[in-house]
Amino acid sequence: MSYIQRYRKWFLPVGILALILLALVPGQKEWLGFDLAIIPMLLGGAFITYNALIATIKTRRITAGTLVVFALVGSAYVEEYLAGAIVALMMIAGEFLEGITLEKTRNSVRELVALVPETAQVQRDDDWHEVPIREITPDDYVLVRPGERVPVDGVIEKGNAAVDESTLTGESMPIDKSPGDKVFAGTLNQMGALEIRVEKVGASSTLGRIIEIIYKAQQNKGHTQRVADRFAQYFTPAILLICAGVWFTTHELIRVMSILVIACPCALVLATPTAVVAAVGNAAKRGILIKGGVMLEAAARVRALIFDKTGTITRGSPKVVAIESFSSHTPEQILALAASVEARSEHPIAQSILDEARKRSLSFAPSESFEQIFGVGVRSEDLWVGNARVLDQLSNSDREQARRFMDAQEQMGHTALLVVNDGVLAGGLALADTIRPGAANVIKQLRTIGIERILMLTGDNERTAAEIARQVGITEFEAGLLPEDKLDRVEQMRAQGIPVAMLGDGVNDAPALMLADVGIAMGAAGTDIAIESAGIALMGNDLERLPELFSLSRRTLRIIQQNIWVFAVGVNVIGITLASSGLLSPIAAAVIHNVSSLFVVLNSARLLSFRTPATVAQPALIEEAEYP
Ligand code: ADP
Ligand code: MG
Repeated sequence: MSYIQRYRKWFLPVGILALILLALVPGQKEWLGFDLAIIPMLLGGAFITYNALIATIKTRRITAGTLVVFALVGSAYVEEYLAGAIVALMMIAGEFLEGITLEKTRNSVRELVALVPETAQVQRDDDWHEVPIREITPDDYVLVRPGERVPVDGVIEKGNAAVDESTLTGESMPIDKSPGDKVFAGTLNQMGALEIRVEKVGASSTLGRIIEIIYKAQQNKGHTQRVADRFAQYFTPAILLICAGVWFTTHELIRVMSILVIACPCALVLATPTAVVAAVGNAAKRGILIKGGVMLEAAARVRALIFDKTGTITRGSPKVVAIESFSSHTPEQILALAASVEARSEHPIAQSILDEARKRSLSFAPSESFEQIFGVGVRSEDLWVGNARVLDQLSNSDREQARRFMDAQEQMGHTALLVVNDGVLAGGLALADTIRPGAANVIKQLRTIGIERILMLTGDNERTAAEIARQVGITEFEAGLLPEDKLDRVEQMRAQGIPVAMLGDGVNDAPALMLADVGIAMGAAGTDIAIESAGIALMGNDLERLPELFSLSRRTLRIIQQNIWVFAVGVNVIGITLASSGLLSPIAAAVIHNVSSLFVVLNSARLLSFRTPATVAQPALIEEAEYP
């Protein structure tokens, strides 16, 4: 960009200001033979009239700009050129300052876009070549050197590295990655060279999806916003009526001009979107993806939070801690049998069974047929792997043996599973999941923020659930639930009129997430379903994001209300009253008009740097340093 282009926007306000200053030189009228103030008035007036015309044509209704045009015509009529010029300057400068601040709040999308490099080292004809991103396709191989940002979503083929994923997840600790691990576009390779097999590029990468969602979210209008828009529609005609009334009673054009200048639905129109844009941008930097103003407002009103235990309070990556055979099979064969069925399941339990089987280098073939029975387990033909609900299939003696195994494991807080083949008990597996660090603290914080009811729901057994609930300080929980039972609990809560949020992993709880007032998916990076199905997605796995989300949304709602009642309604009511009584000059009116809109934008911009008390101690991210 050339200098002229970069500072183009400054020309008009600075030019008008200079002309006004010249017009203030004593005796200029006698020298020139006319009032120099006419020139800045006409210049500014032409600009404002042009913009008002465009706005009127676009929206097909009289806009606020029109009022200012009337006021300028009035000042020309009574030959108050200097006042007219100053009013015009105030309007133009106000809009200019507002534009600069707004631009800042909208930067989040641009910052994210800038995270992806424009070119990458791609393997072509057995050599590495620098290739523009848009020419990369899935299954290409890409080289990422230390200190470079990862250009695509993909899987590591060769190399180890510490990858900083904070741009995506908000978690600042770098994560160690090795072959087989997924890496995401826009994350930073801090150490080590990586060879990556490309899976997704550009708009279809996780970052691409995030950018699109944030962009849409910032356009999306919440409830309060639509009310404000509807109100703004009646605003201008109402002001014209007031002006007519004042004119007929006082015949003082100056009062009418002041009303025309101060009356401004701008503050009202700006009140919500500026706050939403800033809050959505702030959240995105912490790896919290909020799908628009509606979700933000809903989150602000939440009074109950339901946790789906697995994958939220617990890590959701359980470890196999016991394998027992109740048949002629060896324990390893039991594990291999279970693994062959679980190979087709996406449940965290399946993952851990597969991991254990691979660790022991067992050979197993993924079964041909497969069925996931939610809240029970998985099956292939007559081979079942599941919880206590498969006990019914067993003979009495088998059932007793199975119960003893389950009791013993559950006593220790483990999740026990049975492997049943053709109605005969083959063996049992036990898994132990770990509670996420900081969970208890987060629950405490949520209560102080004003989440009155915290519930834990799980398909897991009662004893394990009770132990976990106790450890994190949750008093309300229900165990042994089927997915439809979970839906039911969400429904019940809503029927009682309690705004409820549901936190799940977004994969196997998608229906409950959609039913809740606010569905929050956790660990959503890389899982498209979770990002799509939830109203809010936490890209990483840190529970700390929850209190941040709720305090940010609550703060946003408060700021929106301040904007509306103080800066929009308050300023207008007082200003119009003063102007009608002749206590406000048109110039003062112009100042107040712009100061109120500017305050709305500045008030909203505070959300950009909003920190929850708990995170104050954390080092600031580099990107945030740009905001004063
Ligand atoms: P939650 O997320 O609350 O743990 P789920 O509905 O995901 O609930 O699972 C509930 C229970 O169903 C698990 O604790 C387990 O006993 C059983 N289960 C679910 N999926 C599987 C699976 N793939 N293999 C074995 N058991 C499973
Ligand atoms: Mg689950």
